[in-house]
Amino acid sequence: MKIFCAICLEEYDQHSNISVGKCGHPFHTSCLESCFGDAIFINCPQCRSFMVKTQIVRLYFNVKEDVKVQEPKVVQTIDNSSIVDENLKRQLLNFCQETLKLSSECQTLLDEQTLNLEILKKRFEKVLNE
Ligand SMILES: [Zn+2]
Ligand SMILES: [Zn+2]
Repeated sequence: MKIFCAICLEEYDQHSNISVGKCGHPFHTSCLESCFGDAIFINCPQCRSFMVKTQIVRLYFNVKEDVKVQEPKVVQTIDNSSIVDENLKRQLLNFCQETLKLSSECQTLLDEQTLNLEILKKRFEKVLNE
């Protein structure tokens, strides 16, 4: 979701100071302030409804950091290493990525096998109990 200020058309980010009047339309605090100038009331820049300066409130958000997928350390190490040969660097990176992919595929396979074994075990137990 992209939320933007209807006065300057810029998107809000977590550092934006945002204010809202009674109509509920949010704007940058500074954008709204420059709309007011010395006036005590204006019309909302978005819906033209009556806006009184003393009724403007600042909004505060609880910001949750985006979870970034961590690049495997080995990839970073290669990237930051002093290897100047770009070709070699690329080959190493490719190799690492292939290995990582393979290992995750192995894990999936292992999980499947474990599941199959569980099912087999249950079947055996059932037969043994009959
Ligand atoms: Zn603005
Ligand atoms: Zn409004």
